[in-house]
Amino acid sequence: MTTTGELRRRLERTRGELRRRRVDGLVVSPGADLRYLCGLDAHLDERLTALVVPADAGPTLIVPELERGAAAESLAGGLDAEIIGWSDTQDPYRLVAASVRGTQIAVSSRMWAGHVFGLQDCGLQPRDGQGIMSTLRAVKSAEEVDALRRAAHAIDAVHGEIDQWLRPGRTENEVAVDLDAAIRAVGHARVDFVIVASGPNGAHPHHLASDRMIEPGDLVVVDIGGTMPDGYCSDSTRTYAAGREPSERGRRVHELVAEAAEAGRRASCPGVPATDVDAAARRVIRDGGFGAEFVHRTGHGIGLDTHEEPYIVEGNASPLADGAVFSVEPGIYLPGELGVRIEDIVAARSAGPDVLTEAPRELRVVG
Ligand code: ZN
Ligand code: ZN
Repeated sequence: MTTTGELRRRLERTRGELRRRRVDGLVVSPGADLRYLCGLDAHLDERLTALVVPADAGPTLIVPELERGAAAESLAGGLDAEIIGWSDTQDPYRLVAASVRGTQIAVSSRMWAGHVFGLQDCGLQPRDGQGIMSTLRAVKSAEEVDALRRAAHAIDAVHGEIDQWLRPGRTENEVAVDLDAAIRAVGHARVDFVIVASGPNGAHPHHLASDRMIEPGDLVVVDIGGTMPDGYCSDSTRTYAAGREPSERGRRVHELVAEAAEAGRRASCPGVPATDVDAAARRVIRDGGFGAEFVHRTGHGIGLDTHEEPYIVEGNASPLADGAVFSVEPGIYLPGELGVRIEDIVAARSAGPDVLTEAPRELRVVG
């Protein structure tokens, strides 16, 4: 679980970032940003819940009165934050304006537009806080890397038992229902997605699951992830062969993707531009003759959201931070025929790439 010491360090970094950018305060609504800064896992709705972090003072948490008890009992309660409950007859935006000590505010990018207009109507000048939040969240502390490793090992455990569920004669949906239960059983609080894409369905990178019956020799892309009780996410893909060896071409494609994934993982070092990790994986696939069939970026950052900075995409020249954690997930998609993707979560560390997911990557025949 995240500690209050860790949250205090995050708030201190936030204040530094606000001062550096000459912003008077940050206003964060429920979601991963709020959880990151004060540990509160709250709902986004029409009643304003917001953490106000002034550049030069302690934070204030503004919550509907009916949520005040829950907020005080959360980690936020141990943070020396002032917690203000507002009743349904009050204007919460005025409470924000009174807490922020200035008019130039940054707001979390997923705040509802209605709340942003409410803040504006109080004389505040909101701007997009995405840059501030991603600067903070893209560099994981040792505690966060540990949390992501626990999430990675949990999802590894599901892949480790795939034999129980994946076999020819079952539908993708049947397998997906079992995987859904397994993701919870290994300790996730929530299932975020279950992709079971067999045979030609594998050629659609974001196919979920259908009533297609899995056939012997199908390659089956299994991409699964969930959120752990502490809020950190898992995301891992393996491609299996159902029942028997796949076609010669299927085996060749799997080998190539495995080689590309390894090249991407190996390139994942601090200081390396994100685009270079993408290029390292892409080069292998292009040299193998399938460059046009690798149709997406190589990866995405992961933390309290499944998709966050840094994006491992061509053209992203930002160097990877020491402590950046992201997926490396090259794939090859042959329409009407098959798809293969292999996805691992990697932390860029000064000692070298730290691969958090460990489930075996070689092509396994299951079922
Ligand atoms: Zn995935
Ligand atoms: Zn992913």
